[in-house]
Amino acid sequence: MAFHSVREKHAKALQFIEEVTRDADSVQQKVLAEILTQNAETEYLKRFQLDGATDRDTFKCKVPVVTYEDLRSDIQRIANGDRSPIFSSRPISDSGTSAGEKKLMPTIHEETDRRNLLRSLVMPLMNQYVPDLDKGKALYFLFIRADTKTPGGLVARPESTSYYTSDQFLNKPFDPYSVYTSPKQALLCTDSFQSMYSQMLCGLIMRQQVLRVGAIFASGLLRAIRFLQHNYQQLAHDISTGTLNPKITDPSIKQCMAEILKPDPELADFITQQCSGQNSERLITRIWPNTKYIDVIVTGSMAQYIPTLHYYSGGLPLVCIMYASSECFFGPNLKPICSPSDVSYTILPNMGYFEFLPLDDVDNTVSTDLVDLAHVEVGKCYELVVTTYAGLCRYRVGDILRVTGFHNSAPQFGFVKRKNVVLSIDMEKTDEEDLQKAIENASIILKEFNASVVDYTSFADVSSLPGHYVIYWELLVKEPSNRRPTSEALNRCCLAMEESLNVMYRQARVADKSIGALEIRVVKNGTFEELMDYAISRGASISQYKVSRCVSSAPILKLLDSKVVSVHFSPARPHWTA
Ligand code: AMP
Repeated sequence: MAFHSVREKHAKALQFIEEVTRDADSVQQKVLAEILTQNAETEYLKRFQLDGATDRDTFKCKVPVVTYEDLRSDIQRIANGDRSPIFSSRPISDSGTSAGEKKLMPTIHEETDRRNLLRSLVMPLMNQYVPDLDKGKALYFLFIRADTKTPGGLVARPESTSYYTSDQFLNKPFDPYSVYTSPKQALLCTDSFQSMYSQMLCGLIMRQQVLRVGAIFASGLLRAIRFLQHNYQQLAHDISTGTLNPKITDPSIKQCMAEILKPDPELADFITQQCSGQNSERLITRIWPNTKYIDVIVTGSMAQYIPTLHYYSGGLPLVCIMYASSECFFGPNLKPICSPSDVSYTILPNMGYFEFLPLDDVDNTVSTDLVDLAHVEVGKCYELVVTTYAGLCRYRVGDILRVTGFHNSAPQFGFVKRKNVVLSIDMEKTDEEDLQKAIENASIILKEFNASVVDYTSFADVSSLPGHYVIYWELLVKEPSNRRPTSEALNRCCLAMEESLNVMYRQARVADKSIGALEIRVVKNGTFEELMDYAISRGASISQYKVSRCVSSAPILKLLDSKVVSVHFSPARPHWTA
């Protein structure tokens, strides 16, 4: 693409953001009218007798706010092959699966263009802050899943798989800002080992050209780094000899690697030297010295990976560029070079129709009157409710957002958390954020051992009474020559967690004695990787995988318990006053 046309394209993209945010409210009215007109004859909308009305007031008064559970039976009908217009007048092209929870979301073909429009804004935005991104490549770990079919014959796959296998992605015109080190053949391979191996091999061979390193979510990138640490000897062997690991059997990967892989003993020695040492600090910047930033989402439940990412990347900027979901894409971060705690996403008013359920400080709904996009208030928290072209109406996505400001008249949001209570034994409710804070508080004790928590999950153990919280921890001890955290210190970590849990928890623990001492079970290194493998073997997408912060399924608990290396309990009760 000629230089001036790239420049023009970027200018147009930035101009589009300005235009679409200038009068967010009128764009929203237009979007709602379009959706309601397009889907007027659907079974779902007809149930609420809108009688052709497309205005906001009628819509709000007649159509209820719903959750996935409310729609499950209708979605199942679509999955089972009912082709009548249930949610959308347009044919359902396939259904996205939302990672972890295994939700099926009907999507329509035209939604792809809307999502790609948002994707096309990313590099123009980055280019404003990081120069010369067109002078090299991106090492971006992407994985797709083999398609599955619903009983009625629709393709069911993760949203990311739909995109990375689409014509728009695979055959888009050359764009110097979006050149990946991974060949398409590696991305399109559904065998995750072969895909990861060949993506890593190419990343190593092209190490000097790599300008950004990333994956959709932080967990995906850390998985790639661990893969490198486990497989560097074989990778170095391939590079040294110019021959491909015999485990790579996919013919198209073999064919394209034959062109890329040439004997380079010097590079092989370098890789061995970097990966064989005990010290992995700055591993990313050592291997890919021209990296300008790390391209991963670290907001929400991914925040716990920030210290580990900083450790591997020597404090390079962690760029969270987009907020999106299988149901709907929302918007970009217009100031991508900022600290993870300051990340704000601007919801673009053309992506869908957005409403906001006002929440108080403890996430209780303060009013059932939903607020429109343009009328949310800075500093306040809301639960996001979407109405989409694919036919979801007033659907609760399950995300809680805080308004941080406005870009023109479009609000910007910090991602607070996913709305969920992860642990509850008595009347207390501990959610993901509480748990994350407690982990951070306890991690302070680990600092004296130069150790940190790599990953964690939890379990409300009520097999004995009173029930208690069990937290599974995988630890990273940064300099192995150092002593590991002592048992006494890990006991203190249990108490530190309890001290930072909410007042209801502490009251139950101290006054009611209805909760027993918190327990930490330290698990072997690599356990969470196995947990991810397990989820993937059960159908989760690698790219969209997120560790569940609370587990209850027997096979997962069995897996975790089989990896426990030490067990620790809180030695005292936390602080609480009536
Ligand atoms: P999925 O439906 O599997 O694509 O997951 C979508 C969910 O991932 C969203 O509803 C959010 O809870 C989470 N998510 C997506 N993008 C971000 C982001 N930038 N920051 C935090 N969480 C995100």
